[in-house]
Amino acid sequence: MDKQNVRYMMYLRKSRADAESGSVEEVLSRHYDILQRFAAEKLGGAVKEDMIFREIVSGETIDDRPEMKKLLRRISSEDITGVLAVDPQRLSRGDLSDCGTVIRSFRYTGTLVITPQKTFDLQDKFDRKLFEMELMRGNDYLEYVREIMHRGRIASVNQGNHIASSAPFGYRKVRDGKTHTLSPGSDAGIVRLIFELWTKEKLSISAIADRLNELHISPPKAEMWCSQSIRSILRNPVYTGKIRWNYRRSVKKFMDGCVISSRPVSPENEWILTDGKHEAIISAEMFSDSLARFGTSPRTKRASAPVNPFAGLIRCSCGSAMVYQKPKNSSPRLHCISQKKCGSRSTLYSAAEKAILDALKAVLPDICAALTKSSRSSDTLADTLRKEITSLHTRQEKLCSLLEQGVYSEELFRKRNTALEARLTALTAALSDEEEKLSPALPEKQSFSLHEALCLFQDKNIPADAKNLLLRSFVKKIVYSCHSDHHDKWHSAPFSLDIYLL
Ligand SMILES: [Zn+2]
Repeated sequence: MDKQNVRYMMYLRKSRADAESGSVEEVLSRHYDILQRFAAEKLGGAVKEDMIFREIVSGETIDDRPEMKKLLRRISSEDITGVLAVDPQRLSRGDLSDCGTVIRSFRYTGTLVITPQKTFDLQDKFDRKLFEMELMRGNDYLEYVREIMHRGRIASVNQGNHIASSAPFGYRKVRDGKTHTLSPGSDAGIVRLIFELWTKEKLSISAIADRLNELHISPPKAEMWCSQSIRSILRNPVYTGKIRWNYRRSVKKFMDGCVISSRPVSPENEWILTDGKHEAIISAEMFSDSLARFGTSPRTKRASAPVNPFAGLIRCSCGSAMVYQKPKNSSPRLHCISQKKCGSRSTLYSAAEKAILDALKAVLPDICAALTKSSRSSDTLADTLRKEITSLHTRQEKLCSLLEQGVYSEELFRKRNTALEARLTALTAALSDEEEKLSPALPEKQSFSLHEALCLFQDKNIPADAKNLLLRSFVKKIVYSCHSDHHDKWHSAPFSLDIYLL
């Protein structure tokens, strides 16, 4: 091995799986020692400090892990022989698209994944399969750990602890033994004032916001008080000494090619409301007066299914989004949200859809290739599982013949077979999960010809978000413009579209 050319990196990350074994620093330094010892013995020298990536944040996806992103960038631009990690799961926790990213990056740059147990050369088919299997294993375990953590949090809520990361306005988060609770802070009086202005002086929500702004009282996490912040305080039972959990839950969604999370209000029957350990700021009577003034039940915006397949893709020439609107007793239309300012005219949704589909039909050949290419990588995991299952079946047959030939005792056979059986069950379950993920519900995973894609578009049974996903696999953006001066028939104004393909 030529010492001058050999370049290694090290990636250190604490995973939730080692939740019990110390702080991030402790775990990282333990892993550092293991890997440096390994490097000194097997790779001819320790890894240089500027080649070591320590992930301090515990991000779930690669997008949330800055050091991983840095590492992937460097292996793609520099000549790196291998990356050391204590096990494959450090690189990816098994999210399907992240696994793909990791595997592709290492494979196409010819970078080895080096763990003390095994070195994986992802250009090698067999190593790649093994590596994928390892990442999958990580995922099962993570799901399990997550479930346990979730149960632990619920138990803590039921004990009246405050488990959210920050305290609600008016309270401070304080330690209570091993857990946290709340203590009224300096802003507790403002909370009382808000409730009084609402229930006693009967001010409107916006009038309360104005009053607080006039008094130069600083709001939580913003410059000015707004209706939304007042409303959420007036509806939060935490001020009566309760703990509310699951009110808003983080929901992960795949959008624009990345995982985004939003926090919509959960259905009421999923909320957990328990007596907290903390002191109330508002009496139960005042709180119920407050709710009564809002109406019997708090208004929750109902999440509706997306209706516009072009959502996020079509923009007005002024740069604003084009939104879908279905006026009562008339056909749906698309209009610019800054219509008043930019003066662009709206159009019938059906007319825009037809124009877009017609334009796309005109570029058919290019797109077929692009879609087939992008669909190839996603099937490999399922393929791997299928092959692994076949090979286990073969081994099982061999096991039977060994028993028949008398090579194996019945006891040994049973032992081996039980292990095989367990692995088969796990793999079959993983495969059916995988196949579900690749089912037509996610059209971007499939190889579609444009012709098929456009047929799907006219199918009313395909939900708009699936169509949106499909479009996003080949359309970058669509720019709409319509500045006709004809004021006669507003729905017949001619418009133009510029379609940008990926
Ligand atoms: Zn506009």
